[in-house]
Amino acid sequence: MNRFELIESLVPVLEDTLVVCNIGIPSQELFAICDRENHFYMLGSMGLCSSIGLGLALTTNKSVVALEGDGAVLMNLGTLATIGNRAPDNLVLLVIDNGSYGSTGDQATYTSEATSLAVMARGGGCSNVIECSGETTAGVLADALSAKQASVIVSKVIPGNRPLPVVPIHPIVLRERFKKVI
Ligand SMILES: [Mg+2]
Repeated sequence: MNRFELIESLVPVLEDTLVVCNIGIPSQELFAICDRENHFYMLGSMGLCSSIGLGLALTTNKSVVALEGDGAVLMNLGTLATIGNRAPDNLVLLVIDNGSYGSTGDQATYTSEATSLAVMARGGGCSNVIECSGETTAGVLADALSAKQASVIVSKVIPGNRPLPVVPIHPIVLRERFKKVI
């Protein structure tokens, strides 16, 4: 399973949550599979999907899913400590770990070698950390949302991108429609 197939499997579970989606191809794939007003497609700020998700979870009562990437978490590792210590029970950080910087040409990340983001999340203080295969992730996510507990899911998939155009919605429109859902 690759990221596109994983996101397809997640879409039914994401209907009633606020979704913050990592910049680049992940956002393009989510948009192509299913566009909803509860989706915030990042158009900048690589590495900050988890931080935006944390801020939303701390300031709203809605369930928040941050659809993050392994390369993005690796460039903002402090987020794992902040999430581990603040741990709002309405936040799920879902790291799509394909061992690859997918949006810049599929250069390998260190999670394809010795680095474990699940271990790093636990070290950061996150108490509910699940590493799973892409095939089982939709069920793991549904369980995490019902458990009402801050969770980090590291979903292991294979590299690969669907060739897609950029999200054709103006950033201000994206922001305003997302604000209405919040
Ligand atoms: Mg990646």
